[in-house]
Amino acid sequence: MSDQALHADTLIHPDWIVPVVPQGVVLDGYSLAITGDRISALLPRAQTGAIEADTVLELPGQVLLPGLINSHGHAGMSLLRGYADDKPLMPWLEEFIWPAEGAHVSEAFVADGTELAIAEMIRAGTTTFSDMYFFPDIAARTAQTAGMRCQITFPVFDFPTAWAKNADEYISKGLAVRDDFKHSTLVRVVFGPHAPYTVSAENLAKVATLAAELDVEIHIHLHETAGEVLQAVEQNGERPLDSLHRLGLIGPRTQCVHMTDLGDQDIALLAGAGAHVVHCPQSNMKLASGVCPVSKLMDKGINVALGTDSAASNNNLNLFIEMQAAALLAKVSSMDATRLAASDALAMATINGARAMGIADQLGSLETGKLADVIAVDLSGPELQPVYNPLSQLVYACNGSQVSHSWVAGRAVMQNRELTTIDIDAVRERSENWRNRIEEGRP
Ligand SMILES: [Zn+2]
Repeated sequence: MSDQALHADTLIHPDWIVPVVPQGVVLDGYSLAITGDRISALLPRAQTGAIEADTVLELPGQVLLPGLINSHGHAGMSLLRGYADDKPLMPWLEEFIWPAEGAHVSEAFVADGTELAIAEMIRAGTTTFSDMYFFPDIAARTAQTAGMRCQITFPVFDFPTAWAKNADEYISKGLAVRDDFKHSTLVRVVFGPHAPYTVSAENLAKVATLAAELDVEIHIHLHETAGEVLQAVEQNGERPLDSLHRLGLIGPRTQCVHMTDLGDQDIALLAGAGAHVVHCPQSNMKLASGVCPVSKLMDKGINVALGTDSAASNNNLNLFIEMQAAALLAKVSSMDATRLAASDALAMATINGARAMGIADQLGSLETGKLADVIAVDLSGPELQPVYNPLSQLVYACNGSQVSHSWVAGRAVMQNRELTTIDIDAVRERSENWRNRIEEGRP
């Protein structure tokens, strides 16, 4: 390194770097270089003399960390933020959300809702999001245009919606979207069968077969509430997780979202299968769905990622708040304050999300050679003083508004809190227009 000049597009000198891998480490006085779409160097500032950089960024009082990964959400639903609150899951869906979606979801709704979601997510440090919604082609294109990385999970239902009329059509249209984006470096398209109660065993088996053939991830809502599990047991004589396992749907490519109702036998099955869990603590708390036993899952070596779910059930897409919620909920639900430490919460919002999506060799930590998805967080404000440990500040004291810069694949998508790819005033205006239309049609 020292006797060979390295060209970098950007060389960043923060006060601290939290690389996430190795977990719990805080590097003091280190710098990070970005060349093209990759991290080209991570080294002590004193050794950066040999780096010739086009842009040099001094970030005193700031910490660099990997961009956050939101492993579950429905971006288009951001237009329904605050439309219906304080209801249990099924009445909330059946009486409010599904009728509003039935009346309004269209290509334009998804484009505008997704752009709103991306603007919010970038401003709170997210650089990769998972999405499950209608018109996944539109969501994919919107993310691509905004320079945002995403896992688009195309939905599969038994019943018709604005996007497709039956499971076969959802699958064929979804695979066509996958084909359209197969060369994209930002967009990955995978299977998103909605839930065991909205997709029949026959159609779930089709998804399992195709996903295995294509070696593609499966993302599914599962065991969201005890009621869902109880109803399935009454109807089919087995727990949904057991049904999916029998159908070949539970394996190392499977992302199981929610998982609040879990017995020891369920946890053993997940561990044996190598399946991933996506924890959405705020949505689970707001809808009173239940508590995912994250500490027990971690004890068994199960990978747990973090998701916000939609802005209609959260009501934000802010992973800083979600990390806090996950840590606090794990502690109070186990009555053990040592559970889910700050470094565990940050791992869930970064490297564990990358593991769930099957891209941990490329993403989720700051390591030379990995993709340059990086955020800077300003810890100099009074709400974050004094700084004993930046990791503690990130999880327990930040609220996301301190994120100053964000790069996705080496491209700056936010600089000094200004978005570079999204016109935020236009997003606000379109959101207000949708609000007026949706409010007018409220039953
Ligand atoms: Zn969801």
